[in-house]
Amino acid sequence: MRRKLAAGNWKMNGTKASLAEVAALIAAHPSPKSEVLLCPPATLVAAMATAAAGKIAVGGQDCHMKASGAHTGDIAAEMLADCGASHVILGHSERRADHGESSDMVCAKAAAARAAGLVAVICVGETEAQRDAGETLALVGAQLAGSVPDGATAANTVIAYEPVWAIGTGRTPTLEQIAEVHDFLRAELVARFGTEGEGMRLLYGGSVKPSNATEIFATSNVDGALVGGASLKAADFGAILSALDAA
Ligand code: PEP
Repeated sequence: MRRKLAAGNWKMNGTKASLAEVAALIAAHPSPKSEVLLCPPATLVAAMATAAAGKIAVGGQDCHMKASGAHTGDIAAEMLADCGASHVILGHSERRADHGESSDMVCAKAAAARAAGLVAVICVGETEAQRDAGETLALVGAQLAGSVPDGATAANTVIAYEPVWAIGTGRTPTLEQIAEVHDFLRAELVARFGTEGEGMRLLYGGSVKPSNATEIFATSNVDGALVGGASLKAADFGAILSALDAA
């Protein structure tokens, strides 16, 4: 049985004042059935972990593949763990596009995350041009194969399917399209990792909001969501969490 996961990605948004949203979320949802994860900018990880007081999990949005060294501006997985993070998002399409991250790099980062005791939330997803060209399954399959390290387990790995064209656009795939990709990803994970692949959570991400969450959560092999914009406000993220708890 896979425990559902509601994950929020604050991206480059939020200051200390934004931690009031965390307090509001915890007050409104003191004991959710689902696991709850918020990934703020690195500047807020430590403060959010303190504010969350173990009631929700806190994660980073990226980490370096090395444990330490001359990498100005980068953050090691161990540093995130040291600040109270338990998870880290890796291979988000904005990192792949803005920072040229390849699946090989994401794989190395996931191995570093595991060494630091962090759960890696590994993102895959096609562009609109790739979908239009009928390349979606081949593309996400290649990203999955290249980005998830050997020996990954259900405990240390979560996969997020995030079509690039659905992120921050208000557009979402049809439920059939989501099911097709999630069923495909599940089969690939089981083929490679056996029962561990059966246990890995598969999140959908891309314009999830309170109004579409229930139908997305009823879709085959969707174990939760990675939420961007709608995770910034406790009311919206809380409504998505309620939909997940009810799924
Ligand atoms: C994301 O960036 O991971 C994301 C899913 O964003 P949004 O929910 O805003 O589309």
